[in-house]
Amino acid sequence: MVMEPILEVRDLHTSFLTSNGEVQAVRGVSFDVEKGKTLGIVGESGSGKSVTSLSILQLLGVTGKVTAGSIRLGGEELTTKSRKEMRAIRGERIAMIFQDPMTSLNPLIPLGDQVGEMLWEHHRKMSKEERREKVLELFRMVRIPEPEKRMKSYPHEFSGGMRQRVMIAMALACRPDLLIADEPTTALDVSIQDQILKLMRSLQKEMGMSIMFITHDLGVVAELCDRVAVMYGGLIMEEADIIDIFQRPMHPYTLGLMASIPDMNQDKGKLLQPIPGSPPDMIHPPKGCPFAPRCPYAMRICTEEMPPCVATGETRRSMCWLLDPEAPAEGNPLKQRKEGIA
Ligand code: SF4
Repeated sequence: MVMEPILEVRDLHTSFLTSNGEVQAVRGVSFDVEKGKTLGIVGESGSGKSVTSLSILQLLGVTGKVTAGSIRLGGEELTTKSRKEMRAIRGERIAMIFQDPMTSLNPLIPLGDQVGEMLWEHHRKMSKEERREKVLELFRMVRIPEPEKRMKSYPHEFSGGMRQRVMIAMALACRPDLLIADEPTTALDVSIQDQILKLMRSLQKEMGMSIMFITHDLGVVAELCDRVAVMYGGLIMEEADIIDIFQRPMHPYTLGLMASIPDMNQDKGKLLQPIPGSPPDMIHPPKGCPFAPRCPYAMRICTEEMPPCVATGETRRSMCWLLDPEAPAEGNPLKQRKEGIA
């Protein structure tokens, strides 16, 4: 069943001007986030995943710019909005949570007041008492124990996991259409990470919200997301439903990422296989496939021409020369996978 998208990104290009030249961080990215669903955007540092989310929010600082493409929220174009219009959209229609809540929280203001400020920013007519009640409701919603008492606490009195709960409360204050979460669990230990993911999943169900979840961790994607876009070198290398991508990855970079995550069922003592090499220089991005220097299947054409984006199923696509209709099937691991041979 085709769901209606809340967010439609088309051919997005974003660059940063630096003293060394133009960093082409995002180079033509297209995807949808469907209503009430979670899209995971996964990739290594420098793949362009965080810049994609900052482009949506127009939080690129003075050196960054969306140079081409379209971003539509509920059918409304965002790239042409003024700063003032975007300020109203941020928080109210799109909210964001980051990896380190301490960088977003003021250490000198009680946490309840900080959540209240968010409400005041977007609902000036709300009385002080209504605001207090709403903050209490939000603290309860994100399962903060003894909310009346904990509203008066300062950030340093909360653990990392509890601070992230406050950030989620703040993000949900205005019931946004879309929540963008950028590595929100990376700084947390595994058991707290699991609690936060469960919380996000249950809140999403309760509120019917859409989530765009940015992470380098495919394991986290498996727990939370309905769909996943794998980014590398400022491009989407593969996009598919979560089950499809885990059952049959169709891109050499995705295969590399899979091999580098721990598997509890694998032989004890078996070493994980990191992807050798490092990400491309985005000031001088390669004209062909950005993954070519690290790809075990690279061919001459890979370094010379950008690979085609090929449909590998009804709702999935991959960007790889091995999937080109003209590519030979013999000795071609991806074509064999596509045809269900491997
Ligand atoms: Fe590897 Fe070539 Fe496919 Fe890029 S296009 S992933 S280099 S086989």
